[in-house]
Amino acid sequence: MNRSKLPLADRIRDALRLVAGRHTVRCPYPGCFIQIRYGFVTPDEAKRLTALAVDHAHH
Ligand SMILES: [Zn+2]
Repeated sequence: MNRSKLPLADRIRDALRLVAGRHTVRCPYPGCFIQIRYGFVTPDEAKRLTALAVDHAHH
């Protein structure tokens, strides 16, 4: 996919998301709506939160 063909608004939103460094991770378990939003955390903390979000056994 050629990203330059995205609508301008989408590109701006992508850029803002990168600048803000925010991420949202959702649990992939069917019917589970757990989601964790984080920003400005250390890589280790981000990894921990991501693991928590995708591992349904932990919540
Ligand atoms: Zn879950």
